[in-house]
Amino acid sequence: MAIVVQKFGGTSVATATKIQAAARRAIDQHERGHQVIVVVSAMGHSTDELIDLAKQVTPRPPARELDMLLSTGEQVSVALLAMAIQSQGVPSISFTGSQIGIVTDSFHTKARIRNISTDRMKSALDDGKIVIVAGFQGVDENYNITTLGRGGSDTTAVALAAVICASACEIFTDVDGVYTTDPRLVPDARKLDTISYDEMLEMASLGAGVMHSRSIEFAKKYHVPIHVRHASRPDVGTWIVDELAARRMGAVVTGAALAKEEARITVRGLPDRPGVVHGLFRELAERHVVVDMIVQNVAKDGFAEVTFTVDEDDLENSLSIVNKAAAAQGAASVQSDREVAKVSVVGSGMKTHYGVAVRMFEALAAAGVNIQMITTSEIKISVLVARSQGVDALRAVHAAFELEVVPADLRFSEDPPEIAVTLVQKNQGPVSTENAIVGSAPGMEDLVISDVELDRSQARITLLNVPDKPGQAALVFRAIADSGINVDMIVQDMSEEVGREAHTLLSFSIPSRDAIQAVEALTQLLGPNSVAVDPNIAKLSVMGVGIRSHTGVATRMFAALAAANINISMINSSEVRINVATDAAHGEIGLEALKKAFDI
Ligand code: ASP
Ligand code: MG
Repeated sequence: MAIVVQKFGGTSVATATKIQAAARRAIDQHERGHQVIVVVSAMGHSTDELIDLAKQVTPRPPARELDMLLSTGEQVSVALLAMAIQSQGVPSISFTGSQIGIVTDSFHTKARIRNISTDRMKSALDDGKIVIVAGFQGVDENYNITTLGRGGSDTTAVALAAVICASACEIFTDVDGVYTTDPRLVPDARKLDTISYDEMLEMASLGAGVMHSRSIEFAKKYHVPIHVRHASRPDVGTWIVDELAARRMGAVVTGAALAKEEARITVRGLPDRPGVVHGLFRELAERHVVVDMIVQNVAKDGFAEVTFTVDEDDLENSLSIVNKAAAAQGAASVQSDREVAKVSVVGSGMKTHYGVAVRMFEALAAAGVNIQMITTSEIKISVLVARSQGVDALRAVHAAFELEVVPADLRFSEDPPEIAVTLVQKNQGPVSTENAIVGSAPGMEDLVISDVELDRSQARITLLNVPDKPGQAALVFRAIADSGINVDMIVQDMSEEVGREAHTLLSFSIPSRDAIQAVEALTQLLGPNSVAVDPNIAKLSVMGVGIRSHTGVATRMFAALAAANINISMINSSEVRINVATDAAHGEIGLEALKKAFDI
């Protein structure tokens, strides 16, 4: 006998008939001998309707009362679902978030879960009942009702699965699972059988938003296997699991994504000294602006340039903050562009395969797409392109990696992949205590920085004057791949007018032992004096869970390095880690500074 948590989204409980169908699915698991907890969202669009209603009463509804109002949506669905289950002859009981003891902080409309007591759930389960819990809501220490942010029922479901040590969390929704990319944009997108937490996190904020990002962070932290599947079809959906389990059938690249609502900000002519980057981002972090891609390239003539992207809606606000910060740091200018889009490929397999970057860049070149900016992480390569070319770029990349082709060794199953199950069992100890769950940190959803790393094995190659036109990155990385050299960080900045032609600065890191060979290959390609090399750099990384949804991790990293008087020469960031390069001599001091800053 196992414990299974199921979650039904708003569309899957939108009508009485659908509620009966959901009841049937819960009963099916119950009849297979499992204990079942069901988390439900509000019916259909009722949360939107409640928000509308509040806004008719007052344009800016107070957050506490909004939470009081919105929580009623889920209260309706839990009661109806419990009735439906009982009417089919199976005992069932419904609970609100506060009744079940989901304690959150007091940030109304975006509260985070602190802890969950398991007593009441356990005793109802032991009485043979199917337990129905209202998603998206909790209660703070003072008994105020809170909500977890739009889409928060996913997070409730995964959190319950974590505290109760469920063998899986089934997410029933109106799509078949997670796709290689958005099927509305690329018709031959393919449903994935498995995807790892990190891949899902990298995809989620890239527009492939099947699930609430915070729920994936939760699942990763507590090793909860998630099964995303269609509410009204029996088919197996997509398993979101630990990397080991996901990789058994993994291709090198798992998916591709397009984020259309990005806007770019570039700060030029920044003095190249410690603390400048921190000065630039401090206030954005304080104002909770989520910064996405951050790219800083090697300084030229003593001046550095930093480019980053924010949500298009945050552009005005960000610009007013950055203009001031940039002036305070002595920058020459701030520029922005709201007509950009980000295209990314994601895959855990990238860590061990080379040639992924060149394949992506060649596909973009063949489609005539100019790359404005590049940043990479261990499992993702992202490029910024003109928004008008976003969809074409996505299609070209999806086709280049043949993501529509089913990998050879597929295995369909109702049950969680074995490795995931073992991990859950292994983790039962620390996750749960008798009555309440307390993670290693004070709140279950707190940011966890799991590791700080120093890598001193790399060299940096910088190409100073790369013409700003399609196909350039493809040429460069073709030469590198043909030399059998593995590329790690890649950073390409915005273009700059040199003479009459626009140019970009492209730099990347490779193993130090390959530096001479790389310089030879590139000099042959680009001519003398076009390649600069730093044979030894230090790469410092901060990684963990929650980097995306907790703003300010990058800023804390920059602050720690600034305080240690360390100059940052290259930055790239992703959902799960932030990498910076500094000169080799500062590696150890930087590592110590970061360990102190993040308490490791
Ligand atoms: N009903 C809430 C919302 O629409 C929570 C959820 O559906 O996950 O945001
Ligand atoms: Mg939802």
